[in-house]
Amino acid sequence: MTSKVYMADLRASFKDNMMTKITRLLEAAGIAEGIRPHSLTAIKLHFGEEGNASFIRPILVRPVVDLIHKLEGKAFVTDTNTLYVGSRSDAVKHLETATRHGFNFPVLNAPVLIADGLIGNSVHSIDVDLMHFQEVKIASEIVNADAMVVMSHFKGHELPGFGGALKNLGMGCAGREGKLAQHANISPKVTRKRCVGCGQCLEWCPAQAISIDQESGKAVIDNEPCIGCGECILICPQGAINVRWTETGSIFQEKMIEYAYGACAGKRERCFFINFVIQVSPACDCYNHNDMPVVADIGILASKDPVALDQACADLVVAAPGLPGSALGDELAPGCDKFKVLYPEIDWHLQLAYAEKIGLGSCSYELEKV
Ligand code: SF4
Ligand code: SF4
Repeated sequence: MTSKVYMADLRASFKDNMMTKITRLLEAAGIAEGIRPHSLTAIKLHFGEEGNASFIRPILVRPVVDLIHKLEGKAFVTDTNTLYVGSRSDAVKHLETATRHGFNFPVLNAPVLIADGLIGNSVHSIDVDLMHFQEVKIASEIVNADAMVVMSHFKGHELPGFGGALKNLGMGCAGREGKLAQHANISPKVTRKRCVGCGQCLEWCPAQAISIDQESGKAVIDNEPCIGCGECILICPQGAINVRWTETGSIFQEKMIEYAYGACAGKRERCFFINFVIQVSPACDCYNHNDMPVVADIGILASKDPVALDQACADLVVAAPGLPGSALGDELAPGCDKFKVLYPEIDWHLQLAYAEKIGLGSCSYELEKV
């Protein structure tokens, strides 16, 4: 099956700018059939780590809110807390960072809320019955939403090769436990030289999996009882507990796709995806910086099919000439696989192929300019 992907370039005039193009793209993708009156509609975003400046600009979210309102839906703008400790790892810090980055009511005309609660454990279990997971833990307010518009900044990413709609769905809609399960297959680890033996993680751990080693006075995690909730990572005031980034590239991608599948379960026909192939940085917006783009800005693309959409965006980036002075070094020829140059050990096609295999969409697409 071939899916339609709609594309707008970045040429502008007095009559047509980025806002009108965003509206037109989502209309072409069929948003009017997916948003019913009173539909609680999540606009899933990434607000950007503090110091990063390549996240989607808040003013570009406003036309999506206006469109949802026009369709009599109820829009809210949302993201989930991060697994690692940073400027978005609990809802308080996350909302502060989002506000500093301009995601607030006066700009958006919609409320901002954190979908997995104060500390990332507000989740619903969704049955998926797939190769790695029987069930996935998706942020409650993503599950509770009637419809969803997933707005993604398309860029390189060190784990799946690139990050687009599928990454925003799979990792971005998971609660803390789900993020940990995608990244690792064992418990977090304690960095002994940082641990001061305060015992706060012992008190917090819901599985009594942590103890203090009598000899060293440092915390120790027992893999057996650990349920992988990831909460100790957030709780440790010394930042001494971290994820073991054990999962290999291919397994990570499959797990991420299974989470993406769970994130739109029950509302697949009411999910819409829009990718901004703009400021295509080599790495994720989760870093506190963004390196210069690897290609010139390409455009904005939308579809009902996240697989076809990401495939189309990846193909456009590969086809474009690389930018001199970027992280690509001398590998700038049009047609050169930019993501392979950035992350030689990652095969980014895997995420798309597995998503197609489990029925999340199609790698085959027809590109239509609007
Ligand atoms: S909370 Fe952190 S510093 Fe305190 S015992 Fe646990 S690991 Fe060590
Ligand atoms: S991940 Fe959860 S269950 Fe495991 S040690 Fe940390 S707090 Fe305890």
